Amino acid sequence: MRPFDYIRAEDPAAARSAAAGSNAAFLSGGTNLLDLMKLEVMAPDTVVDISRLGLDAIEDDGDGLRIGATATNSDLAADMRVRKHWPVLSRALLAGASGQLRNKATTGGNLLQRTRCPYFYDTDTPCNKRTPGEGCSAIGGETRNHAILGTSDHCIALHPSDMAVALRALDTTVEVEAADGTSKSYEMDDFYRLPGDTPHRETVLEAGDLITGVRLPAPKGDRQIYRKVRDRASYAFALVSVAAVIRMENGRIAHAALAFGGLGTKPWRDPDFDTLLTGEAPSRALFDEAADVLLGRAVSHGGDDFKIPMARRVLRAVLEEATQ
Ligand SMILES: Cc1cc2nc3c(=O)[nH]c(=O)nc-3n(C[C@H](O)[C@H](O)[C@H](O)COP(=O)(O)OP(=O)(O)OC[C@H]3O[C@@H](n4cnc5c(N)ncnc54)[C@H](O)[C@@H]3O)c2cc1C
Repeated sequence: MRPFDYIRAEDPAAARSAAAGSNAAFLSGGTNLLDLMKLEVMAPDTVVDISRLGLDAIEDDGDGLRIGATATNSDLAADMRVRKHWPVLSRALLAGASGQLRNKATTGGNLLQRTRCPYFYDTDTPCNKRTPGEGCSAIGGETRNHAILGTSDHCIALHPSDMAVALRALDTTVEVEAADGTSKSYEMDDFYRLPGDTPHRETVLEAGDLITGVRLPAPKGDRQIYRKVRDRASYAFALVSVAAVIRMENGRIAHAALAFGGLGTKPWRDPDFDTLLTGEAPSRALFDEAADVLLGRAVSHGGDDFKIPMARRVLRAVLEEATQ
């Protein structure tokens, strides 16, 4: 591990100014950052501890909920309002990592956790995400845990978060205080960038930008499911996951919002998929047509070919359950 300065910030403004203009990283739960620093995949000059900024509240916000950036994954999953009105979020959180990790991991850190691509973690192999312009070892390499949607010729790394998949299906916005003190709010689709030819830039955040929280609007569907397929029953990242938020009216799908994990370079949602389902009566033919829309855009790489039929089966099972 390389030497670095450690600063414990007392308020958001102090955190932003400590991080601005240098190769700094915010330390929240530390469950991802510290591993990456030990492996020298990330080597910040300054680590700004944001765990004591008082950003851990989960508060009613009119018809929605505002979740502070340092609210832990455990507290969020256990919150009775979340369990009652946004159960897909609670289930996605509980499907991730382990109890010990969730006690430390935070909302902001979970959104920004880095990919689990093995080449990103192995500093002996080229990786455009770690060192821009170096090349991508995954393309033509071992690809069992890689993305099949949103990839580029420069990167096929998967976004690993379960929580972020549920947040996408729930139309969450991410709240940010920029390094200059201005407040911004992003839809999740705008917050995450596709890899393109700059895979090292994963979000719209600039140096010193601090996530202060996320806002959950009122749920648009009462039928909520998170289904995760993985190699082990716990403590494993998704091979394929689906977050579904559905509302039925008079036997038809009045609202459909589905987001996908294990498939995309960012938590994935396809507006054409949701549109195709909306207003229709549920049927096997409709679900297959929707899967064609989503997976017709997929590009697999050999080791991850299995994800296409697996995603189709998981999707069908989730939609059948959610629309019964
Ligand atoms: C063994 C293991 C298994 C796991 N399994 C799963 C799983 O199945 N599903 C899953 O979704 N996750 C899984 N995880 C990942 C885990 O969820 C993340 O490590 C965790 O959510 C990161 O949160 P943190 O608060 O610890 O982030 P940190 O490690 O503190 O930070 C992560 C990144 O976010 C930045 N950051 C943190 N907070 C802010 C903020 N407020 N503003 C700006 N930048 C910020 C940091 O600078 C850093 O770059 C697993 C992790 C481990 C170690």
